[in-house]
Amino acid sequence: MQVPRSIFREYDIRGVADRDLTDELVRAIGHGFASMLGSVARRVLVARDCRLSSDRLFEALTAGIRASGADVVDLGVGPTPYLYNGAFEVEADGAIMITGSHNAGDENGFKLMRGRASFFGEAIQSLRARIEAGDLPVSTVPGALTSLDRKSAYVAALTKGIRLARTDVRFVLDAGNGAGGPLALEAMRALGLKPDPLFCEMDGTFPNHHPDPTVEANLEALIARVRETGAELGLAFDGDADRLGAVDAQGNILWGDKLLVLFAREVLATHPGSAILGEVKCSQTLYDDIAKHGGRPIVWKTGHSLIKAKLKEEHALLAGEMSGHLFFADRYPGYDDALYAALRLLEIVAKDPRPLGALLSDLPTTFVTPELRVPCADAIKFDVVRAVTEHFERAGREVLTIDGARISFAAPGAPCWGLVRASNTGPVLVLRFEAPTREQCQAIREEVETVVRAARDRFGG
Ligand SMILES: [Zn+2]
Repeated sequence: MQVPRSIFREYDIRGVADRDLTDELVRAIGHGFASMLGSVARRVLVARDCRLSSDRLFEALTAGIRASGADVVDLGVGPTPYLYNGAFEVEADGAIMITGSHNAGDENGFKLMRGRASFFGEAIQSLRARIEAGDLPVSTVPGALTSLDRKSAYVAALTKGIRLARTDVRFVLDAGNGAGGPLALEAMRALGLKPDPLFCEMDGTFPNHHPDPTVEANLEALIARVRETGAELGLAFDGDADRLGAVDAQGNILWGDKLLVLFAREVLATHPGSAILGEVKCSQTLYDDIAKHGGRPIVWKTGHSLIKAKLKEEHALLAGEMSGHLFFADRYPGYDDALYAALRLLEIVAKDPRPLGALLSDLPTTFVTPELRVPCADAIKFDVVRAVTEHFERAGREVLTIDGARISFAAPGAPCWGLVRASNTGPVLVLRFEAPTREQCQAIREEVETVVRAARDRFGG
């Protein structure tokens, strides 16, 4: 079968539903994936988000899984962490979430798990190769289809162990009409909280704003509502609620690395010395703060699947990404769940007499750019990063090469670094800079960008 290669990505399979994800291809994805799980007693959990194409994809995907002989357990409609929770609590060989995550309404795709681990990278490429080769053995006995509604079990897992010093926290929840709204409200109300819901009804057309809280424009309605109602904070989810966004009472956005500082302090207070992971894009103030509070900071690669694997390997209790994927292995199984992270943030706000905006006032002030995305052809993007690394190493700079090049610049008393990394998901270089002053930030940005441009020209991109 001819398959559009670009939809088989590093962490998931994703494309425009009506164009790329034909019934035939989706059936083959289900069939091929189930065949890769092994030959005996195969059972695959399937959940789906609220996108308009999700029901069609469910039909095709599960037809393929069953043709391979594996059983399907239909968990119904919910957010991605609802599927993760199923994979941790129900005996199954694999699990698939049908979701377009934070992408536009016409896109959709699949996040895959083998047992409790992400199925990604090479595994996704082998699945593609298997489909291309038509290696899809049909079982004489098709698998069964059963339904299992685990929503109350999931809400119980979310709320178990959450201890709120007060339940009158005034907050707005913007679920972006994605799949996380209804269950989040249920969990919050079960704890005695009174959320002010904004766009919490599921609507796969996403009529109010794009379901991605990492883009400032998508937080405008939330910020306006927080200010207008005098709420203490605002919370936002992406379309499948594995990413959390947050704003304080003034409407200032707390990006993933700042949220991670708050959570790290909380975790380290009860588990001194534990390992905590961030990714290469996070502020240096995060890693310094973890160390200052007695933790073991680990800088790791970007990507939720890579972070989850490293979290397990290091027995870390917490991890996070700029994008708002937050992973708690403290009192929780370690998967990225924005509903759970929201409850942990509410726990902190309820306990601390200071407003959320004041909790990080002791962090050193730095100037930091947002993620800057520079177009760069896939064929040369890794060569450019290598050339940048070599340039700065020759210049005597320390360069961290875990994922891209994170270059240290000397600056007394405060963090100063620049990052150039090749995106795993498109023809893009991601750049970010942090320095003690605006001028220094601008200066290192210009220095690095000049080297990037020269390398890109040299490789012909
Ligand atoms: Zn997502």
